Amino acid sequence: MHYDVVFAGAGCAGLSLALRILQSPALASLNILLIDQQSKQENDHTWCFWETQPGFFESIVYHRWEKAKIYTHHHQLNLSFHPFAYKMIRSVDFYRFAHDRLQHAQSQHPHRKIGWLYEPVLNIEHQQTHAIVHTTSHHIQASYVFNSLPPAFPANSYKHFLWQHFRGWFVHMHKPTFDPKSIILMDFRVPQQNATAFMYVLPTSSQDALLEYTVFSTHLLVAEAYNTCIYNYMQQHYPNITYDIIEEEQGKIPMTDFNFPSQHGPIIYLGTAGGQTKASTGYTFSFIQQHSDALIRAWEKTGKPQLSPTLHQRIYRWYDQLLLHVLQHQLYPGDQLFKILFEKNAPASVLRFLNNQSSWVEDLHIIASLPAKPFLKAFFAQL
Ligand SMILES: Cc1cc2nc3c(=O)[nH]c(=O)nc-3n(C[C@H](O)[C@H](O)[C@H](O)COP(=O)(O)OP(=O)(O)OC[C@H]3O[C@@H](n4cnc5c(N)ncnc54)[C@H](O)[C@@H]3O)c2cc1C
Repeated sequence: MHYDVVFAGAGCAGLSLALRILQSPALASLNILLIDQQSKQENDHTWCFWETQPGFFESIVYHRWEKAKIYTHHHQLNLSFHPFAYKMIRSVDFYRFAHDRLQHAQSQHPHRKIGWLYEPVLNIEHQQTHAIVHTTSHHIQASYVFNSLPPAFPANSYKHFLWQHFRGWFVHMHKPTFDPKSIILMDFRVPQQNATAFMYVLPTSSQDALLEYTVFSTHLLVAEAYNTCIYNYMQQHYPNITYDIIEEEQGKIPMTDFNFPSQHGPIIYLGTAGGQTKASTGYTFSFIQQHSDALIRAWEKTGKPQLSPTLHQRIYRWYDQLLLHVLQHQLYPGDQLFKILFEKNAPASVLRFLNNQSSWVEDLHIIASLPAKPFLKAFFAQL
């Protein structure tokens, strides 16, 4: 079997790029195969991100918010997202949208091959001019393979590594409880697990919300520990209101300075596997979108989907390493750090900074607002 383009892994990153290929007149003749071990019918992720304009996936945005609160033990910050909107996409809608678009493209252009294969990828072989993807029962040759399979992190291949691990409950309250225009971005008034931990509350109506207990630490917790924290939070903050748990979500995201590959010959790495997870926050969705757009622009311009990081991108990576160092070595309490970041800077600047889209002036302002001692220590530890 031969295809121009094979996607090894058709999750967030694979599908984000595949949909953009469909939209590009210059790439209209490419035959595409998407391989995933699952057919993706379930809501296995809830993706949140922020942007100022309607984005590529605007039509499937499930909810958007204008405001946020951050709580520490002694402070409350009220933030406005303006000019950003904080948006939520449910993966079940995302997968359905992508599958419909791909199916529609195939039916409109019967000469173009757009195929799916639901099998685990066992290995991707790298040749001079092409790659071969081996699944349990197929060997597929491709000019380019976009690989978003979960990466391995061999010991000693990084300096810093934390898991951002979480469990969430989608709750339906039996009476109006929430403000659906405002989220709790971080509530640090929860057990800190000798690390940094917070509750994240995303109301989608006055009676419905996703509450996620999130920890940045080297070790995961047993499932019951997350559930106990969410249960206690509900008892403490919404006492005497009965509720149902409609759905649950859990996951872990690597926060690391591991040097993710961008490309090995015809194999191009996407998503978390391609280093699109921001090491200091775990946010990935919007970086996947920026990366997909940049790959298409490069492909249309040069004939190759190849990119090298810009200077500013390399500097953001370095900022991330410093923050990760401070968090991992507990040089400063995580709750205080995030409080200072949002208290001493305009929220829009912080949101641009966390999206790797800030100006140099904003960067300097943000750096100057942070406590010098822990960051200097982190700086010297990198040398
Ligand atoms: C529960 C959860 C919630 C998250 N929420 C947010 C959020 O709110 N905002 C944000 O910015 N980021 C979030 N993230 C981080 C990040 O956006 C997601 O992990 C995102 O899905 C990463 O995209 P990806 O394509 O790299 O990986 P995935 O979307 O996981 O795609 C990888 C694909 O590879 C497939 N696969 C794996 N192994 C094989 C194999 N051997 N053979 C074939 N297929 C295989 C999987 O089935 C999957 O479809 C979240 C992560 C998790 C886990």
